Amino acid sequence: MANRPEWDDYFMDIAAMVASRATCLRRQVGCVMVKDRRILSTGYNGAPSGVSHCSEVGCRREQEGIPSGERAELCRGVHAEQNAIIQGARYGVSLQGAVAYTTTQPCSICTKMMINAGIVEVIFGGEFPDEMSLALLKEAGVFCHKHTSRIEAARKKAANER
Ligand SMILES: [Zn+2]
Ligand SMILES: [Zn+2]
Repeated sequence: MANRPEWDDYFMDIAAMVASRATCLRRQVGCVMVKDRRILSTGYNGAPSGVSHCSEVGCRREQEGIPSGERAELCRGVHAEQNAIIQGARYGVSLQGAVAYTTTQPCSICTKMMINAGIVEVIFGGEFPDEMSLALLKEAGVFCHKHTSRIEAARKKAANER
């Protein structure tokens, strides 16, 4: 089965599918918490259950032109990583020892929560301007790296060999 995906590609693809449900006006993020190659919880960014989404009633961060990475509290949305942790809390699933696959590098608030939830590794897709989150993960001993798909890795290798 040549097309069978590698585990990291598989979970990142699932995280991207989860992100498609997000209702943030700026960025759709998806997160999948995995342990022993099993999915324990998922989350995307959006308003809490029963509350109108930014996509329906607007977002103060958007209206006030607040730059990316700042004043997260003004948005009614809950971040993807936070929703994945909350799902674990709601259904009594411990995330201790889990790996977080997230489509975007986590912000420092999500990072702090993931450290205390016992996440041991963070694998992210796109980069996000938050140096504090990377510093916190490093200090806490949480392994964190940008995902490179098998296709990307093969392309890079070929370019280097040329
Ligand atoms: Zn918002
Ligand atoms: Zn966040």
